[in-house]
Parts: sequence; C-alpha cells; structure tokens
Amino acid sequence: MFNKPRLLTPGPTPIPERVRLVMARNMIHHRKTAFREAMTRVQGHLQPLFGTDSPVLPLSCSGTGAMTAAVHGLFSRGEKVLVIEGGKFGERWRNIAATRGLNAVTLHVEWGRAVDPEAVRAALDADPAVSGVLMQLSETSTGVLHPVREVAAVTRRRDVLLVADGISAVGLSPCPMDAWGIDCLLTGSQKGLMVPPGLALLALSARAWKKAGTVDSECFYFNLPKERAQVEKGQTAFTSPVSLILGLAESLDMIMEAGLDALYRKQWALTMMARQGVRALGLELFVPRDFAWGVTSVSLPGGVDGTRLVRLAAEKYGVYLAGGQDHLKGRILRIGHMGWVDWADLAAGLHAIAMALRDVGGYTAARDYLEQALAAYHAGLAVAPGESIPPARS
Ligand SMILES: *Cc1c(COP(=O)(O)O)cnc(C)c1O
Repeated sequence: MFNKPRLLTPGPTPIPERVRLVMARNMIHHRKTAFREAMTRVQGHLQPLFGTDSPVLPLSCSGTGAMTAAVHGLFSRGEKVLVIEGGKFGERWRNIAATRGLNAVTLHVEWGRAVDPEAVRAALDADPAVSGVLMQLSETSTGVLHPVREVAAVTRRRDVLLVADGISAVGLSPCPMDAWGIDCLLTGSQKGLMVPPGLALLALSARAWKKAGTVDSECFYFNLPKERAQVEKGQTAFTSPVSLILGLAESLDMIMEAGLDALYRKQWALTMMARQGVRALGLELFVPRDFAWGVTSVSLPGGVDGTRLVRLAAEKYGVYLAGGQDHLKGRILRIGHMGWVDWADLAAGLHAIAMALRDVGGYTAARDYLEQALAAYHAGLAVAPGESIPPARS
C-alpha cells in the first residue's frame, strides 16, 4: 500500500493532476456555448499537433474505433489495400479491412523490424489496383517506429491513400501529416495525450476528403463527412464525450505551453534513458534501430519468465509494465514511457525491473545503472530540438 501505482504501460498512461481536476468539475451540456468553446480550443491545438490545416475530428471510441472509421470511410467494399504487418496492430488493420470486405494484401515484416519503404514501392509497382496503404507509425506490440515519412514519399505521388495509425506516436514523436503527405492520421486519447481512454482523433488530407465524399461507409455511427460538418460548428454528431474533451483541452494547453519541440525532446530523452538503462541492466534491446519514442522493448534472457517478472514489478514495487504478445509472450518486456511519465517514473521502472530480475534469478546489472540511465536522459534533453534529434526514423 505504500507504493504509488506507476503506469509504465503503453496505454493507458498516467493523467496529470490538472487534467484530472478539470474532468472532476460539474457536467456541462454538449450543445451549449461552454462546450463549443472547449471544442474550438481543442481544434486550435490539434491542428499543429497533427501538422495539418484540415480539421481533426474527435470520435467517441477507443483508437480501434478510429481505425474502423478510417477503413469504412475511405474504402468501398471490394477495394484493394496493402497492409503492413509487423505486429499485433498491423494484424488489426488486416482484420478490420477483412470485415469491411476489402481485398487486403499483406506485406509481412519481421516483428521488431521496420518496413523497408522500397518493399512498399515494389508492392505498389507490382499491383496498380491497390488504392490504399494501412500501417502503423509506431507498432506498439514490438516497439518499432515505421518510416512513415519515406512510405508517404512513395504514396503521395500515386493515387494511393496512406492511412497511418499514430495511436502510440502522436504526441510522442513528430508526424506532421501535411508536410509528410499522410492521408489519414489517427490516434487515441490514452497514450501520448495524457487523457483517459475512450476518445479518438482522426484527420484526413484534402485528397482523402475528396475520396471520403465518394464512399458509402455503410456504417451509421461512423460517418466522416457528417462528423466534419458538426466539428466545424464546434459539435459532434452524437452526444460528445464531454469530460474527455475538457480533459483534452487542458492536456493540450499543457503541451502547447511547453511547446512541441520541448515535448519531443522530453520523449527522446526518456527513450535514451530507457535504452541506456536496459543495456546497463545487462539486458538486450528487442529493437536495435528504428525504435519508437513511447515504448521500449526488452528481450529477456532465456530462463527468465517475463510474465512472472511483470507480476513481481507490479505487486512488490507498484510499477506496471507490459509483457509480449503472441509468440513474444513471456520473452519480451515492454516499458511504456508515454504521456505523463517523467524521468523519476522511469527510474522507478528500471529499479523495479532490476529488483524483479534479482527475484527471478537473472540479475546481471551494472551497479550504476541508474546513473548511466540518467546521464543518457540529460544528454538526450540537451539535444537541440528539431535539429540534432534524429528524424523520426533514427
Ligand atoms: C493502443 C493501440 C491501438 C489500440 O487502441 P485502442 O484504444 O485499444 O482501441 C491501436 N494501434 C496502436 C498502434 C496502439 O498503440
């Protein structure tokens, strides 16, 4: 009972006090002025965050709802799409496309590796019938950051829409959709944005809006043109997730007060801290390069039971980590450093891992692992934002 619960999970993530307090206020009505004002405030922040001039639509659903809305709103039954699948969330694109009746071709990528943009180009060259590419920015199940910018450089010159699941990337690493040429960027509230789960956000490029106008989504709830018309009036089509929108307005105020450069610099520094900490603990990083900025995956040594390690870290130290999924279950550990997580939370996380490893008998850490990790954090913070921070792909 004396441990604070620390969520180092790749969503949901901890919520700042400012956001929690705003969400605790009296309910307001979603068709009245105060709510419209919050919607306008949110919109003013979301556009620079997404790097777009298009409206960013709030949808009342988890992130998967926005993935569903994108697939239904942008493609008609029978259309052919290319799914980039290197983990659980790529697999989810394939499943959603199948339920929409799309003809989904899969480009398989080894789990833990990023897709090669040249392979995407080759697949599109080989099959001119493909009208969309569905991929993740950050594949949360493995901790990989896919080269969306380079893939967009391929799709933007053709009649192919690029749909990017940025659920574990928006607010964590740069993804300016207009500059890169992403046609649909979507995210959820519970990862980088410091808001509880249940709200999704989605934006379309000008050409994607054109396409959306020609597609019958065959879905009553998710209707993107209808949502857009409402958002332009500071409204949503159905009852708005009022508290989540108010919480988001507050969290985006916090982000914009600090500035996007500072936000990405902090994420970069936390990522460097996690990676150096893991190495100093004598463990191996699961993603050698092309790593995400919000989750760090760790390969566990043979004989270490990952499921037990995750349980011990939570029960004895109050640190909630994630294990692996599917064939990686028990074999990797995922440390989330998303949203309202700071250096002290991550230090607690590394210490919990060290202690839990000792408990399960695989402890080989350097004595100064925390010092090494914190040095990497400070070095990361000192990097000039926008310049020396390697582009999203590093
Ligand atoms: C968390 C996550 C999802 C799923 O989002 P839900 O909010 O659980 O529906 C999808 N894609 C990625 C990349 C994620 O990290």
